[in-house]
Amino acid sequence: MIKDKVAIVTGASSGIGLATALALSRAGAKVAIGARRTDKLADLAGVIEKEGGSVMYRRLDVTQRSECEGFAAAVLEKWGSIDILVNNAGLMPLSFFQSLKIDEWDRMVDVNLKGVLYCTAAVISHMKEKKSGHIINISSVAGRTVFPSGSVYCATKHAVTALSEGLRQEFSTRSNVRVTCIEPGVVDTELNSTITDESLAGFVKKAKEMESLRAEDIADAIVYAAGAPPHANINEILIRPTTQER
Ligand code: NDP
Repeated sequence: MIKDKVAIVTGASSGIGLATALALSRAGAKVAIGARRTDKLADLAGVIEKEGGSVMYRRLDVTQRSECEGFAAAVLEKWGSIDILVNNAGLMPLSFFQSLKIDEWDRMVDVNLKGVLYCTAAVISHMKEKKSGHIINISSVAGRTVFPSGSVYCATKHAVTALSEGLRQEFSTRSNVRVTCIEPGVVDTELNSTITDESLAGFVKKAKEMESLRAEDIADAIVYAAGAPPHANINEILIRPTTQER
C-alpha cells in the first residue's frame, strides 16, 4: 500500500522525521524531505539513495507559507503526485507561563500549529481533486494532557489533535483523504534541546534517564497507519514508553 506512493516529511533533519523518512522509503515510498538544516537533509538523502530509494530534499521553513507552497509545487513537478503528508516539524521550549517567554510561545504556535496549517493547505486541493491522500499529524501525549510548564506546548498539540479530527470529518468521507493523529510520549530525540528555562533542568535530566521510545518506534506506527488498506483510516495512535505514567 505504500510502494510508489509519494510522501512529504517535514522536520526530516532529525529525530522522528528522519526515522520516518527512512522507514517510508524502506517501505517503497518516494520521499520528499524538508527542514531548515539542509546539510542534514543532504546526508539523509545520501543514505536513502544508497539504499536504492527515491528522494528529493529542499529547504523548508514551515512558518513560511510561501516555502510550504513552493515545496509542494516542487514535489508535484518532480513526481506528479503527493499521497502522504507527515506534518512532523515541531519544537518544545517548555517554560512556566510566569517566565513570559513570549518569543518562544510565538515560535511554538508558528511551527507546531501554523506550520501544520500551511503544509496541509499546500497539499489538500491536490488530494481533494484526485480523491485520495493521507495527512499524518504528529501531535503528542501533550495533545491529551496538560502540565504546568507545558501550557503553551500542550495548547499547540491540543490544537493539532483538534485540527486532525476536523480535517478527518471534512475530507475523509467527502474526498477520501485519510487523516491520522500520532500522539507519542517521551521519545529520545533532540526535542528537549529547545528548552531554555533553567528551572526545568530536573525535568530534562529525568527524561534523559528514563527508558524512552526511539524515533523508530514512532516511524513504525506511521508506516502502519500509511500502509493500512484504503478502506481503513487509522484515526489516532497514542504510544508511550512502557515506563511513562502520564
Ligand atoms: P527533533 O528536535 O529531533 O526534530 C524536530 C524537527 O523539526 C527537526 O527536523 C527540525 O529541523 C524541524 N523543525 C523545527 N523548526 C522547523 C521549521 N520552522 N521548519 C521546518 N522544520 C522545523 O524532535 P522530534 O523528532 O522529537 O520532534 C518531531 C515532532 O514530534 C515534533 O512535532 C514534536 O513536538 C513531536 N513529539 C516529540 C516527542 C518527543 O518526546 N521527542 C513526543 C511527542 C511529540 P530543522 O531544525 O533542521 O528545521
